[in-house]
Amino acid sequence: MPANSKDCLKPVSGRYTGRFAPSPTGPLHFGSLTAALASYLDARAASGDWLVRIEDIDPPREQPGSSELILKALETYGLHWDGEVLFQHSRLDAYREVLENLKQKHLAYPCTCTRKELAEYLPSYPGFCRTKTGIPEVHHAIRFNSEDQTLTFTDRLQGSQTFRLKELGDFVVFRKDGLFAYQLAVTVDDEYQGITDIVRGIDLIDSTPRQIALQQALGFHQPRYAHLPVITNELGDKLSKQNKADPLPLKNPQPVLLKAMRAIGLPVDNHVAGATLSDMLLWAKGRWDLRTLHNQKIIPEASLA
Ligand code: GLU
Ligand code: ZN
Repeated sequence: MPANSKDCLKPVSGRYTGRFAPSPTGPLHFGSLTAALASYLDARAASGDWLVRIEDIDPPREQPGSSELILKALETYGLHWDGEVLFQHSRLDAYREVLENLKQKHLAYPCTCTRKELAEYLPSYPGFCRTKTGIPEVHHAIRFNSEDQTLTFTDRLQGSQTFRLKELGDFVVFRKDGLFAYQLAVTVDDEYQGITDIVRGIDLIDSTPRQIALQQALGFHQPRYAHLPVITNELGDKLSKQNKADPLPLKNPQPVLLKAMRAIGLPVDNHVAGATLSDMLLWAKGRWDLRTLHNQKIIPEASLA
């Protein structure tokens, strides 16, 4: 018998199931296309399933119409997913249940600290409210008690990773404004959807130990991870919706898809350049080798022209 819930972590097994999980905060750009493509090819090359999940649990950050635009872009680029799209807004009951479970295990606690009080400590939360008793009457956030563990995982691209959760701090699982936090929702849904493999940008690598800590606390499976280099603009910043990366064109996708293939290390040549979209993807699936990106952290978009 495991001594506590932390020993319940289950390694994944069985059929490869990957996913692409965009937030509908704007249309897809070239950076998100490369991440989607790598995750898609990794799944298809393993004869696995590839799912799409729309992470729409943060209405203040969302842009109306983005979900439809994102799905349309994926279709336009030939990245067809399996099954139905899962929308996180339909999963609130599941998140609530998991939050209750964490509270019952004393692994989640209310935090009433204000931004101002935390200013000198952030981004790492020093655990001030861990030992407070009584449920505060004011609106409050709920944090996960990481118990200052040290977590290690092996990333398929970036190698062995060690994180001290004390340095990352107890993170928020339920926000003061009444919304569930990304870390909680993503962990619950990766388990719910039976995800075996997560292929996403390296900008999210700090989230992985938090998600693994939650998986361990909840007795979930731990997927395999591969954190991809991110595409950067001429200023060296990651292409993102915040820094106004151009939306993907929805007409004539071939040249952009070709560039995305080059970005993730595929040896494209003129022969591939002249092929149809579905032949391009078929070719890419046959040539896919994640190891080409080993240890890479950034890819300047300008290097792909
Ligand atoms: N929804 C997150 C984002 O768009 C990504 C989630 C993930 O891949 O884990 O940044
Ligand atoms: Zn606090």
